[in-house]
Amino acid sequence: MAVTKYTVLVIPEGSHRVRRFMVQRRLLQWVAAVALVLVVAGGLLFVDYLRTSVDRNELARLREQNHSQQKELQRLITSLDDLRKEMVVLAQNDAKVRVMAQLTRPKAETLLGVGGPPEVDATSEITDIQRQIDQIRQDIDLRRESQEELRGFLNDQRSLLAAKPRGWPVKGWMTSSFGIRNSPFSGRLKMHEGIDIAARTGTPVYAAADGIVSQCETVEGYGKLVAIDHGYGYKTYYAHNSKLLVKVGQRVKRNDLIAAVGNTGSSTGSHLHYEVRLNGIPLNPKKFL
Ligand SMILES: [Zn+2]
Repeated sequence: MAVTKYTVLVIPEGSHRVRRFMVQRRLLQWVAAVALVLVVAGGLLFVDYLRTSVDRNELARLREQNHSQQKELQRLITSLDDLRKEMVVLAQNDAKVRVMAQLTRPKAETLLGVGGPPEVDATSEITDIQRQIDQIRQDIDLRRESQEELRGFLNDQRSLLAAKPRGWPVKGWMTSSFGIRNSPFSGRLKMHEGIDIAARTGTPVYAAADGIVSQCETVEGYGKLVAIDHGYGYKTYYAHNSKLLVKVGQRVKRNDLIAAVGNTGSSTGSHLHYEVRLNGIPLNPKKFL
């Protein structure tokens, strides 16, 4: 038969009195159950407390991180804005140079100047930053295009400058100018398509501009002749030489030695006959000296 009651004896220290309690088994079971529930609940609470305190630390850390990220974001926005301003200045300088070079404005110039105050919430701030970055990238592409165009233009200008005859091809003095004159041979009026520069035989003759020797031979009337093609429609002719010092197809620079003064062909004395032609039409070489 199962025991249903327990007797609990309590004997205080140094006393002879004994206290006795009768405890029912069922009550003891209840007490044990309640104690167990309390222990388990306490344990759960403790675990929850631990977790919460970890979360709290995490929250503080995240808050700190968020704060510094916000500051970082603001710094980014500010430096982006500075960049944008610099791009505007660059665009203005570019426009000035283009005006100086008489080039048209690059296309899509109207894209510049789009901006506005930064938005408040983070996602739109990031969208704004992205937009500004895209804009700056576009501006950079535009500037690059413009710079390349300018460089091409300047190179063309330089080549043109190098191709245009300049200076005296020989040291001497002008004895006959460009235009209609009485021919020293027939006595009749005849077009003189160049100028004559008197100089001793053997005096060096120099190229008047960069170019390629297109003719180097003896030609009736002209005697020993050098012709140089400078590009851009310009050609120069050096006639009556005593010696030719270049070959056809040879590349020459301005002031390169090409011949020596002489008296070959229809000539009445040692001199250089010098012609400048643009697209085949003789121009007055005096304008190029
Ligand atoms: Zn002449």
